[in-house]
Amino acid sequence: MVTNVFRAMKYTIKDFKKQFPDDNACLEYIFKYRFGYSFHCPLCKKGSWSKIKERKAWACAWCGYQIHPLAGTIFHKSDTPLTSWFFAIYKFSNSRNGVSAKELERDLGVTYKTAWRIANKVRSLMTMGGTKTSRNCRSGRNLPGENENALL
Ligand SMILES: [Zn+2]
Repeated sequence: MVTNVFRAMKYTIKDFKKQFPDDNACLEYIFKYRFGYSFHCPLCKKGSWSKIKERKAWACAWCGYQIHPLAGTIFHKSDTPLTSWFFAIYKFSNSRNGVSAKELERDLGVTYKTAWRIANKVRSLMTMGGTKTSRNCRSGRNLPGENENALL
């Protein structure tokens, strides 16, 4: 899960920026984490996926079935870039005393309202820690925060 990566020893801001330079890198991470590239298509039962250009979705190379990896996560339908969400998760993962919305507002360059919403979602994600049962019956894996309480 994302939070465990960030909690790993010696994972610095430099590592973070290298691993997640843009939204595509974050999206790729989420796709890989939730489905992996050997995930079998629910329709044709084959397993070959390719990213759909300009969309946050992957398509089955055989039948065109589409997967939207953000669906059912705290990132779904958010206008905030994934890099900002990931950075907020990174900050929370590396903080002993929590992160205030005011701090996120400054770091992410977003409004206080947006920062507060992100902080709230990430906090609920952190407290759940991915221990809730999976709602993703297709792959059996879920991201931390994939719970109705954490959905956007
Ligand atoms: Zn297919």
